[in-house]
Amino acid sequence: MTNKKIHQSTQAVWGGEKDYLAHGASQVPVVLSVAYTYDDMDEWYDVAIGKKKGHIYGRNTNPTVQAFEDKVKLLEGAEAATSFSTGMAAISNTLATFLVPGDRIVSIKDTYGGTNKIFTEFLPRQQIDVALVDTGNHEAIEAELKKGCKILYLETPTNPTVKITDIARMAKAGHEVGALVIIDNTFGTPINQNPLEDGVDLVLHSATKFLGGHADALGGVLVGSHELVEQVYHYREINGATMDPMAAYLLLRGMKTLHLRIREQSKNAMALAKFLQTKDIVEDVFYPGLETHPNHDIAKRQMKGFGGMLSFSVKGGVDTVRDLLPKLQYANRAANLGAVETTVGPARTTSHVECTPEERAAMGIPEGLIRVSCGIEEIEDIINDFEQAFQHVETVMNV
Ligand SMILES: *Cc1c(COP(=O)(O)O)cnc(C)c1O
Repeated sequence: MTNKKIHQSTQAVWGGEKDYLAHGASQVPVVLSVAYTYDDMDEWYDVAIGKKKGHIYGRNTNPTVQAFEDKVKLLEGAEAATSFSTGMAAISNTLATFLVPGDRIVSIKDTYGGTNKIFTEFLPRQQIDVALVDTGNHEAIEAELKKGCKILYLETPTNPTVKITDIARMAKAGHEVGALVIIDNTFGTPINQNPLEDGVDLVLHSATKFLGGHADALGGVLVGSHELVEQVYHYREINGATMDPMAAYLLLRGMKTLHLRIREQSKNAMALAKFLQTKDIVEDVFYPGLETHPNHDIAKRQMKGFGGMLSFSVKGGVDTVRDLLPKLQYANRAANLGAVETTVGPARTTSHVECTPEERAAMGIPEGLIRVSCGIEEIEDIINDFEQAFQHVETVMNV
């Protein structure tokens, strides 16, 4: 054994699997068994109270699910990990573990649509005070924190205009007022961004997106210290939003190529963003890798790559979107993201479907905004595909 640090790409392939292999197989088995049998009553008891390693019942733990958790833990450089049926379950269970009536949470206006619904619809019902600040306004977040805060909840880059928040600065500000600092790292991915290194307490992901990468399994995961993760695990094992073993297997398999996919998706997004900037019909391009992005410098400091997500707005608004998107041959028009296929969708039908046009305008989301999750196709083919779709729209517009 050497003490050399194992690289992320090696961890993506090998990490977390060894303890779960069986029968000499080289791949982690899918253990579908709901319960585990014991002949020795004392051993059963010791496992049940956590004194000895093992499994009792599928809602609590499962070997395939644990292999998935261990791989994410290694990729994020965390002490502990626990998993959930979906990304939203990771978010709701984590918040429910730590918040009690009378607490105050500070976050940003641009969180994922479902998360935003928790903040505006469900938490206020539990007498939890929610303060949502303009995304990217660091001074405003710091001012809110000084009024008292149990949890500072961050997400960067955000959906759909890829706004950037300074993670290290916010973690420090949060800790100064004794807040627990939590971040949704779904867009960042462990390959491009490791918020635990920037001082964040808990990092969560919708594993459904980039971690799985193949749009065929739902899941969520949380990483951080033993002490904090254990509390959320306890909430989840009792309340029941457990990851399915088959989903864990698919996510585990997807993660073996995470580093390759993210590298390619980040490269493709950068090239597509630059191409889009050259088109007359395109009004604005939002991508943290562009020097025109207002927080490009922060992104450059805290991200190893700028990621596969970008968005752009087109002249002619919704009408142009309606003509343009169906013409793309190599893009799914769908609500998910992070898959190997390029995926596109208007913000008004995907991330911000629950808002009115006025609300979207107030959030800086034009009606003609298109979100792109870049896939791993050859970039020349993606650009040619967008080019022919633009040509079609320009012909229609000139008629
Ligand atoms: C999709 C998504 C979620 C929710 O994840 P599900 O697996 O769909 O429940 C949370 N945060 C972000 C940033 C997402 O993109």
